[in-house]
Amino acid sequence: EALARRVDDLLRTVPDFPSPGIQFRDIMPLLADAAAFAEVVAHLAQAARDEHGGIDLVAGMEARGFLLAAPVATTLGAGLVPVRKSGKLPGPVEQVSYALEYGEASVEVQPFTIRPGARVLVIDDVLATGGTAAATVDLLERCGAQVVGLSFLVELSALDGRSLLDGRSVDALLALG
Ligand code: IMP
Repeated sequence: EALARRVDDLLRTVPDFPSPGIQFRDIMPLLADAAAFAEVVAHLAQAARDEHGGIDLVAGMEARGFLLAAPVATTLGAGLVPVRKSGKLPGPVEQVSYALEYGEASVEVQPFTIRPGARVLVIDDVLATGGTAAATVDLLERCGAQVVGLSFLVELSALDGRSLLDGRSVDALLALG
């Protein structure tokens, strides 16, 4: 579709960043394009409204997820929940740890910002292995949220992040091999 092609044209692919062998998809040129940024936000919001109906909160994953989640939240008339890496939020926090290729990471939210049963949409820029997104879903559900779906700007299909999000509603504006 036209918007997906626009997004594809505006992404920059950076070899060996942040480490050798990684092809990093850089969304900054897209954010810098006023019209494309606005269209992407409008599209993510409309798709979520069409698929899920009312949404109370949009959860954005640190850090690039924040850049999309915040404008989508205001477009939807929803609140924003930043899902942060460990040690950034003043407590009390709920925390979930997950495995990385080497080592482990954790994500945190402030549970008092999430009303029990709140309908939450999760947003991030890129779905890669799905580890971050799966941990985020787990985290939000531990806080009593109802995760209605996940939306990504870009899905790296070869990494099959969807398999870690089995049974969830997962959308991506652009799928790359
Ligand atoms: P995952 O947990 O392997 O799915 O990795 C997803 C997380 O890493 C997300 O928060 C993304 O923002 C980030 N990420 C992974 N690959 C890329 C990329 O190519 N470009 C931008 N962010 C990426």
